[in-house]
Amino acid sequence: MPIYDYRCSECGQTSELLVRTSAVPACPACGSQRLDKLVAATAPQARTPGIVSRARAQAAKEGHFSNYNSAERRRIRSR
Ligand SMILES: [Zn+2]
Repeated sequence: MPIYDYRCSECGQTSELLVRTSAVPACPACGSQRLDKLVAATAPQARTPGIVSRARAQAAKEGHFSNYNSAERRRIRSR
């Protein structure tokens, strides 16, 4: 099972969470499920458009959707 970094939209807590495929992770600090998945490995280098678009493509492949708007998320998830 993969481990991802999440930032809570409610309290701002950043947490490393083990994610089961079908589970929605919750913030360990406040219990909120409004979590943004952080792309920890690529974020520090995401300064040029080419790197950003590669990071987006890689993120989509891995199931990250925080860089996409809701219409794009629906399209990706329906595949
Ligand atoms: Zn929280």
